[in-house]
Amino acid sequence: MEKVVCSVIVPMYNEEAVIHETYRRLSKVMNDLGESYEIIMINDGSRDKTGEIISQLCKQDKHIKMIDFARNFGHQIAITAGMDYAAGDCMVIIDGDLQDPPELIPEMIRIWREGYDVVYGKRISRQGETFFKKFTAKCFYRILRALTDVDIPVDTGDFRLIDRKVCEALKQLPERNRYVRGLMSWVGFKQKALEFERAERFAGETKYPLKKMIKLALDGIMSFSYKPLKLATYIGSILSIISFLYLIAVLIQRAFWPHSTTSGWASLIAVSLFFNGIILLMLGIIGEYIGRIYDEAKGRPLYIVSRLENMEEREGPRYK
Ligand code: UDP
Ligand code: MG
Repeated sequence: MEKVVCSVIVPMYNEEAVIHETYRRLSKVMNDLGESYEIIMINDGSRDKTGEIISQLCKQDKHIKMIDFARNFGHQIAITAGMDYAAGDCMVIIDGDLQDPPELIPEMIRIWREGYDVVYGKRISRQGETFFKKFTAKCFYRILRALTDVDIPVDTGDFRLIDRKVCEALKQLPERNRYVRGLMSWVGFKQKALEFERAERFAGETKYPLKKMIKLALDGIMSFSYKPLKLATYIGSILSIISFLYLIAVLIQRAFWPHSTTSGWASLIAVSLFFNGIILLMLGIIGEYIGRIYDEAKGRPLYIVSRLENMEEREGPRYK
């Protein structure tokens, strides 16, 4: 493999409106830096012209490499593929929509040279995002932190620089439902935060609809905590105790005041609905875990590559 100091990994899903600008700003930063570099763009099964545009960039600039997925596998899998194919001594993972400023990369590399293995971007503010998105993100990062024993920093996305040895460690974690930033905390190494203001999306719309956000949140929590399962035990025990006390009260009432217990449809329905709700919720939580176990048991590869460009000779990963 050729010698590369920095591989930049950019996942792209339906980003035709931003690719040219992303390419321009990234290349400028990397050229000014004066280190050998490559920019790996992952076309995550886009339905628009993203693939064609990347292909065209590959032809005019050999620094650009493409991994073309056979279908949409999702953001977390796309950055995993980028790391699998990257040749650099360090790698920078950055969103394709310019919400993470490429101009921060030289600073990240400087900190990396000081001896840090992970330099992660911590968002001190987010622009151009809805109140709903900011609020749910804030809550999610804090809930995740409260639920897990792994030290996952809050308000931190996937924008970061990692050393090759961190990447090699990550390759030993072939989990299917990936929450990559959590895995990076799990492997450890010397980490440092670099604060930045998250910009607005350059063009186009978010590729993270609510459904994908929920999936990512559940992956984050379920891959790093059993606590939701314990919830069943706690709620179950408390409700059983309350039910038992109520049962005794009802029996006493029935024994001493036999005529007073005819009415009660409303309370019966209320209790029944409440308990059924709790039971279904708990079954759902167990189901989420079982589904993930099933995914692991099938042992399918994480993604299917349909074609590589400007790095055809590189070997893909061997997932067990
Ligand atoms: N992305 C992807 N596959 C997907 C969804 C998103 O590769 O299924 C990419 C997307 O092109 C972008 C990055 O992941 O480069 C972050 O997505 P987005 O900006 O839409 O998320 P947001 O910033 O709104 O959370
Ligand atoms: Mg974005």
